[in-house]
Amino acid sequence: MLTPRPTRRPWATIPGSHATPGILKMKTITLREGKERSLLRHHPWVFQGSIAKGGGDLGETVRVQSHDGQFLAWAAFSPSSQIRVRAWSFDEAERIDASFFARRVQAAVALRRRLAIASNGVRLIHGEADGLPGLIVDQYADVLSAQFLSAGTERWKDAIADALIAATGCPFVYERSDSNVRGLEGLQPVTGWLRHPEGERRPTEVTIDENGWQLTLDVAEGHKTGYYLDQRDNRGLFAQLVRQLGCKTVLNCYSYTGGFSVAALAGGASQVTSVDSSGPALARATHHVALNGFDPAAHTALDADVNGTLRQFIQDGRTFDAIVLDPPKFAPSAAHAERASRAYKDINRLAFKLLNPGGLLLTFSCSGGIGGELFHKIVAGAGLDAGVDGYLLRRLEATSDHPTTVTFPEGEYLKGLAIVRKD
Ligand code: SAH
Repeated sequence: MLTPRPTRRPWATIPGSHATPGILKMKTITLREGKERSLLRHHPWVFQGSIAKGGGDLGETVRVQSHDGQFLAWAAFSPSSQIRVRAWSFDEAERIDASFFARRVQAAVALRRRLAIASNGVRLIHGEADGLPGLIVDQYADVLSAQFLSAGTERWKDAIADALIAATGCPFVYERSDSNVRGLEGLQPVTGWLRHPEGERRPTEVTIDENGWQLTLDVAEGHKTGYYLDQRDNRGLFAQLVRQLGCKTVLNCYSYTGGFSVAALAGGASQVTSVDSSGPALARATHHVALNGFDPAAHTALDADVNGTLRQFIQDGRTFDAIVLDPPKFAPSAAHAERASRAYKDINRLAFKLLNPGGLLLTFSCSGGIGGELFHKIVAGAGLDAGVDGYLLRRLEATSDHPTTVTFPEGEYLKGLAIVRKD
């Protein structure tokens, strides 16, 4: 069916609740000559240095055009960010209004429904990949946990919250806009309930079912939105491999709340050690062992630095049948890649030394600045230094509810290797 073209020119009014009555012309950003290429490829970011003239208020919708006036995108303006403009739409006929956000949110939620994810913890909105730059939303059972990380998403927060509730039927929306990146956008941190049914409150603790395990999290206290859903499939795979390979002793480094530790126990491990520098996360890991019916004596929680712990274990002559390395982002951007590479190599070298022959290593990097090929090279160097080789069983990535798109390869961040040590 043909969609009728809008009869009204899209720039005839300023969309959104922040429109100033009487002002009929939308602000325009004109790019320098040659700087239109990235938007023409539907990459959503424009850096400050690419702009010849024009500006706007915090999060205001602007028309972005090439040096010769050709329309490129409708976008959100961010006056203090290096990423000065984030595109909402490359379609000149589209209007950026509440129904635009309703459509984008609906499409993102519809994709997750089609993926039929076997968990009630699901990433619903994954920023740029879902056409909503700066917005992260995770659903944990009946609670949505949202991060508004860009000026544009901040400005449209109400419309987005309405759209989320309409698309999911989830009445509770908790805001976790306390990430550092908000500072780069000139935004203050904000946390707390954004929406809840009138007169109704619910605790911020939620229990989700993941791979058949019960896992708890607190949307107010946990890291990011509360939990790391991107490792769901890798935790499931880990349980399978631990069972297949008959791993008994397991070291889970950077364990957070012990997702991989529960997976190891589910796979038949008899001694699992979780190491993390967060006491509250480890307390939850300990709780998760009992909650899932495993013997508390089979689990040790170590509140310590991973690097130091690995060195200590080597000194103590300890070894393990399986090791997980899932560190935080060592390289926030490509500029940090070199120092981060050394840090990744170090922990992987130490882990190889602690791994029994025939043992399993799951090693990850969630740094966008370290590509998959480079990560493999780093791990190869670590193996060489440790005098250990291994079979590459699988290349690992984030779950499909954290998609990357064809036009935004920068969205790819989590990469991992499943390795079995040669005898
Ligand atoms: N594997 C986890 C997610 C790990 S997130 C999961 O499946 O849920 C990274 C974790 O590393 C965080 O819990 C953080 O507290 C921890 N961390 C960061 N630096 C650390 C360090 N130097 N030593 C130990 N833990 C650290």
